Amino acid sequence: MSDCLFCGIANHEIPSEIVYEDDKICVYKDIQPQAPVHVLMIPKKHIASLDDTTDEDQELLGYMMCKVKDIVKLMGITDGYRVVSNNGDDAQQTVKHLHLHILGKRKFTWPPG
Ligand code: 5GP
Ligand code: ZN
Repeated sequence: MSDCLFCGIANHEIPSEIVYEDDKICVYKDIQPQAPVHVLMIPKKHIASLDDTTDEDQELLGYMMCKVKDIVKLMGITDGYRVVSNNGDDAQQTVKHLHLHILGKRKFTWPPG
């Protein structure tokens, strides 16, 4: 999608610190990290949010979830981590391209803010 920030990052049109990519996903450091490790995993396919997924996306979403552990290992996280996906206004989703926040290397509290 041409006016989407995260599509721009996935297409290498907008600079970012990419830590992993393949044909399906791109993972890069969040510009405003909320933990010592804070990366965003996105599908290269533009999907605005979980609301916009279809049954065709099941394999892609499963792929993303199963890739999390590899990224966690790559980033040197050893003692647990948090995966967050903000969807819609109440959750304060600011970028309308589906993404998983992967956060680690600090203690987290629950419930989240
Ligand atoms: P959301 O609030 O939609 O769940 O998360 C969007 C995330 O994207 C935020 O954590 C924000 O810091 C990050 N972000 C916004 N703009 C950029 C950017 O240009 N580059 C990178 N790497 N991250 C960004
Ligand atoms: Zn996009």
